[in-house]
Amino acid sequence: MNTLTNADLHCHSVVSDGTLTPEALAQRARDNGVELWALTDHDELGGQGRAMAAAQAAGMRYLTGVEISVTFLGITVHIVGLGVDHTQPALLAGLQATRNGREQRARDMSDDLARVGIKGVYEGALKYVGNPELISRSHFARYLVEIGVSKDTNDVFRKYITEGKPGFVPHRWARLADAVRWITEAGGVAVIAHPGRYKLTPNEEFALFTEFKAHGGQAVEVMTGAHNASDYVKYAGYCQEFGLAASRGSDFHSPEESHTDLGKLPDLPGSVTPVWDLLQARIH
Ligand code: AMP
Ligand code: MN
Ligand code: MN
Ligand code: MN
Repeated sequence: MNTLTNADLHCHSVVSDGTLTPEALAQRARDNGVELWALTDHDELGGQGRAMAAAQAAGMRYLTGVEISVTFLGITVHIVGLGVDHTQPALLAGLQATRNGREQRARDMSDDLARVGIKGVYEGALKYVGNPELISRSHFARYLVEIGVSKDTNDVFRKYITEGKPGFVPHRWARLADAVRWITEAGGVAVIAHPGRYKLTPNEEFALFTEFKAHGGQAVEVMTGAHNASDYVKYAGYCQEFGLAASRGSDFHSPEESHTDLGKLPDLPGSVTPVWDLLQARIH
């Protein structure tokens, strides 16, 4: 395996906020030519056994995965963990604690939407939830589309449930140091997910990469659905500057909602070390 390997190391199933089962995702990944796959549900490892079995049945190599929600300098940052022991108690406890606030946050989001006249959104969003511990803004977005408040989920995120908009409720997720430690102590590699999405100043972004590295983080997503061509160049450069390996993952959630399909990103640039080079012993 090398930088040209068709690896897709970031996507979501019904175990978090995706719309496909782990089995359907594995089939779709295989059909799209993926050779090395990881399911990375938000704050949750419950789909790993199914994903691993489905990957093996489809003839793909597999890395365990998770995407941990972190609060850094007051904003939400996502840290992907690859190759973790998905039965490790400290990691499971950390993820459990990270999931715990979601229920109350969802009720508060619903109350805030009711203030602008949109009622019953908590109950409506629950119809889309596959895992009762993982109600997310994506489920709210799907229900708001269903009732005609927005034409699609992207429009929901432009008008509602984001900072400064109706239905947004600030939330404190895990600390960066804890998320990186849970991942590395479970034998995995921590990866900064989709850095191009964060609204950080250059100084804040430098602090994120510096602190992440100091805590033991080892990689960054260079190729990901939310990045454009200039992000690819920028974050491949950060790999050199910070001594990080590079990851590649679509962040696929749903055939209807995701513009980047599984396995369809450009290859990693030849200048970087692929994150799977660090994980040879963890590949199933
Ligand atoms: P939560 O973890 O509940 O805050 O939900 C975050 C999820 O909402 C992300 O993982 C995405 O799946 C989705 N999301 C957040 N922002 C956007 C956006 N601007 N457009 C589309 N989906 C988004
Ligand atoms: Mn998501
Ligand atoms: Mn994310
Ligand atoms: Mn994701």
